[in-house]
Amino acid sequence: MMKIGILALQGDFDAHARRLVELGAEPVLVRNPEQLDGIDGLIIPGGESSVFLNLLGARGFEKLSEFVRTRPTFGTCAGCILLAREVENPAQKGVGALDITVRRNAYGRQIDSAIVEGPCELAGGVMEQVYIRAPRIERVGPEVEVLARRDGYAVLIRQGKLLAATFHPELSEDKRVHAEFLRLVEKYGQ
Ligand code: GLN
Repeated sequence: MMKIGILALQGDFDAHARRLVELGAEPVLVRNPEQLDGIDGLIIPGGESSVFLNLLGARGFEKLSEFVRTRPTFGTCAGCILLAREVENPAQKGVGALDITVRRNAYGRQIDSAIVEGPCELAGGVMEQVYIRAPRIERVGPEVEVLARRDGYAVLIRQGKLLAATFHPELSEDKRVHAEFLRLVEKYGQ
């Protein structure tokens, strides 16, 4: 059985854990960096990316960066921000593994949370997308594949063994995004 860690320092890790169980994987709540050694892939959930950075501290950030560079990782919302090469509004450090520029809280106060349906490249087409104080991906590098868009902006992307969404697939019934991540874990797992 695949063991998938979910960074559980803060934010919405429960819904991810339920989804993994539904898909036949074993969720492991990761609360300290040493736990990264025993898992096949990692989910970094939504929350506040700045709070994640504070809670990780320098050593946790190093350990996380090392994991992300070599193993399959899926970031949603704040998790996507943590994986990015460039973060704006305000500028913030990221692991730098995903070649994107991401703008935090890009939708303004009034429309910052929304449920929309948008085109998706995964088999089955159109996907529900739940946004909560979402960031926007303003630039994607040449190695980034765009799997779904909202108003023309990339919202679900894949770069090698990394997957990231600016929305929250764990809050919809649709299991395709997590299934895609497990496929990456199977493909790139060690
Ligand atoms: N606004 C958060 C941030 O900038 C992300 C929100 C989320 O993860 N739902 O880190």
